[in-house]
Amino acid sequence: MYTTGREEKGLSFLLVFCLLQWVVDNISKIVNKFVEISEKKEGLKMKTYSCETHIDHALDMHVAETEQFPMMDFLSEEEKLSTTCSYCEQSATYVVSSK
Ligand SMILES: [Zn+2]
Repeated sequence: MYTTGREEKGLSFLLVFCLLQWVVDNISKIVNKFVEISEKKEGLKMKTYSCETHIDHALDMHVAETEQFPMMDFLSEEEKLSTTCSYCEQSATYVVSSK
């Protein structure tokens, strides 16, 4: 079958497009895998969220469970809104994690 140059260009454009689509699809899968792995690592580094009342308890529990020196950080205003204390219903102010 004879095809004109224009049709061939259209076809190769389609192929490149499909290839790009495939790469994009798979990149997101690869990225997801990395995110999964880093989340699992994050899981090993235990994080405890705590309000003002339970921070002492949170620090004690963290040391008891991980046997590591706890790092205490303030949550950002945005995180405060979406995070509750691990020991009560109040919104968390601190996050306790391992170094
Ligand atoms: Zn609390």
